Amino acid sequence: MLNSIEILLEEYFELRNCQIKSMVGYANSNYLITAGEEKFVFKTYRYDKEELGIIQAENELLLHLKKYNKHLAMRFPHPIPARNGAFILDLQLDGQRVIGRMLSFLAGEFSGNLPMTLASAQELGTFLGDMDLALESFDHPEYRARRWEWDIQHLTLIRKYVTDIPDPHRQSIVRYFIQQFEAEVMDQLPNLRRQVIHNDANEWNVLQHDDRVIGIIDFGDATYSPLINELAVALTYACYDKEDPMPWLTIIVKAYHQKIPLELIELDLLYYLVAARLCISVCNSAHARKVDPENTYATVSEDHAWFMLDRWLAIGSKQVSLHLKEALNMQLPESPDVAGQLANRNKHLSSILSVSYSAPIYMDRAAFQYMFDGYGNSYLDAYNNIPHVGHCHPHVVARASAQMAKLNTNTRYLYDQLASYAEQLLMKFPKPLSKVFFVNSGSAATDLALRLVKKHTFKQQFMVLEHGYHGNTQLGIDVSDYKFNHPKGQGQQTYVLKTALPDSFRGKYQGPESGIKYAKDAIREIQNCHGEIAGFIAEPIVGCGGQVPLAPGYLKPVYEAIRSQGGLCISDEVQTGFGRVGDHFWGFERHGVVPDLVILGKPMGNGHPIGAVVTTDEVAASFEKGVEFFSSFGGNPVSCAVGQAVLDVIEMEGLQQQAQQVGKYYQKQLHELSKTHPCIGDVRGAGLFLGVDIVQPGTKATDSALAAHIKNSLRQNFILISTDGPDDSVLKTKPPLCFNQSNVDRVVDQIDQAIKSYSI
Ligand code: PMP
Repeated sequence: MLNSIEILLEEYFELRNCQIKSMVGYANSNYLITAGEEKFVFKTYRYDKEELGIIQAENELLLHLKKYNKHLAMRFPHPIPARNGAFILDLQLDGQRVIGRMLSFLAGEFSGNLPMTLASAQELGTFLGDMDLALESFDHPEYRARRWEWDIQHLTLIRKYVTDIPDPHRQSIVRYFIQQFEAEVMDQLPNLRRQVIHNDANEWNVLQHDDRVIGIIDFGDATYSPLINELAVALTYACYDKEDPMPWLTIIVKAYHQKIPLELIELDLLYYLVAARLCISVCNSAHARKVDPENTYATVSEDHAWFMLDRWLAIGSKQVSLHLKEALNMQLPESPDVAGQLANRNKHLSSILSVSYSAPIYMDRAAFQYMFDGYGNSYLDAYNNIPHVGHCHPHVVARASAQMAKLNTNTRYLYDQLASYAEQLLMKFPKPLSKVFFVNSGSAATDLALRLVKKHTFKQQFMVLEHGYHGNTQLGIDVSDYKFNHPKGQGQQTYVLKTALPDSFRGKYQGPESGIKYAKDAIREIQNCHGEIAGFIAEPIVGCGGQVPLAPGYLKPVYEAIRSQGGLCISDEVQTGFGRVGDHFWGFERHGVVPDLVILGKPMGNGHPIGAVVTTDEVAASFEKGVEFFSSFGGNPVSCAVGQAVLDVIEMEGLQQQAQQVGKYYQKQLHELSKTHPCIGDVRGAGLFLGVDIVQPGTKATDSALAAHIKNSLRQNFILISTDGPDDSVLKTKPPLCFNQSNVDRVVDQIDQAIKSYSI
């Protein structure tokens, strides 16, 4: 090959005896030509008519820059004509038709080989501003017509590569940003100023002498696009390896702004445009690897791009736009008026609705395990289990909106989603549980379950657990000790039999045999009960009781005792279901039992209001003897589509396994922490459903003041967690299942800090 190049150089450029060195290139071949004192770059491209048009446009662009301004001209490569005057050659190279062209060589060190400094970052912004000012007066129809994957404005073209990304959660991150782009950027594109831009100011195209940016090469990606995309691309590569991208971002944007004042709309969209470029990069890398696993140049930036996508996700859009506007002394949007919001809410709504934290949070957006407030603050969500597969998960959003745009009706009509979702859901249950009733909340599910039990057993009494909570309907409250036994509660109904919470940490019985002992007591109560018990309702891990797992060995004998006197057993899986406990899909499976009825809610729709009762054919058949059951919304096509999407994501992203692995790590780290902090009395739960029992050191006496301090201190440090239990002394953590080990480290570290700050 080099021999053939040598012959071409002599024929077309009268260059003899030169040194020819092959250099890396993304999609074409580049050769460094050294002829005596002079250096050139000879580029060849596989012949393609479309490519030829773009190369001609690039040639004109470079000639424009050359004559634009003498000083600036030194900072770009110049086209070198062949001896026949042509800048672009149609050549035969080793039997292949290629396009050839010669450029001047720009000496310097690639930015990628030098550490970024304050000065070099500033220079980069200034240089890009100068370049874009020069390009403003250039135009070309080829660039106007160019429509390809590396142009941020055409982000959606990369959709076809998303499945080339091997990790399904990473696919979801890219899909999330595509969806955000469609929602936030797409309609604004016509309002952005446009011009021809370089469009690839990455660290392997920008050249420096020490801290000084001396120029840029490779205009192969130039296009006619929103001007702000120039900056978005440059920021992507300048920041993608930085632990904290914000300071670098600010320096570069500020310097660019000195040259070309940015508009508010450009700053508002920059976050999404940078995210888009990162997505374009990772998608193209994934695709390139699939097509040609040997092409290492195409994947050179992949790790950094993923690193920044994760950081970017955690930062959120508002923080970026507010920070930049402030740095540029631009007009800031009005801050949300939290006190006003609260007052307005209390004007129209009952104050019986509580608000978390003494300083309430005004939420604006959320993404996976992060939530963002109206001030641009980003919170790590270690608490909310309703967005089970992640806040605003793109698969759930897409399925919901597609179905909403197509059909939403009720179960009195036939549609595919109802039976197909029911089938998919029931596959997750052991065989006898083969009928499902869809409703719209956990409470509605509890209420219906109790009715089903009564209808089947012809009995009225229910056994419930101390500190249990099962819903807000009258029946729900009746069986919820957490509510009826509250000082302001209604008290216990005569049809309700309350039994002790089988708590092996703080209860009457402790240690490995405690489950059996609690069971014996409960069985005695069942036997001594006045009349027979219709049903027994319990969560496998009692959330409101302070994340207390039922002591091992308890549930099986109690279920047997209930059944032996003609009753049914209900497992409330509203909190513990759908893989959260890690080792099993349902909490009851941890106890080796199969309930007669299962109550579902919260995570089932990832925030969409959907609940269900799953039961046996026999129980359902008894209910069928009564009046019609109809729920206006239960099982509607949109809810079913959402439910299916949630199940799909759990499966695709391996979220049950993630709950198990990350949950195990979480427990281990919390146990470690308890060694240095005796105020951590117990760490318990399963998977990503954990409780940290805060005690007075050396005792099991609760310390709710410290628990509250930890909760509020975490909130001040932008981590969401809660407290619960009879004394509100148990830290409750049950994050979206995409929570990862580094999220765990952050929470555990902050708990450590909070405890330390309390004792000072
Ligand atoms: N059961 C349990 C165990 C719950 O935690 C809840 C809600 N906290 C419910 C039932 C009631 O669900 P919903 O709020 O959806 O009505």
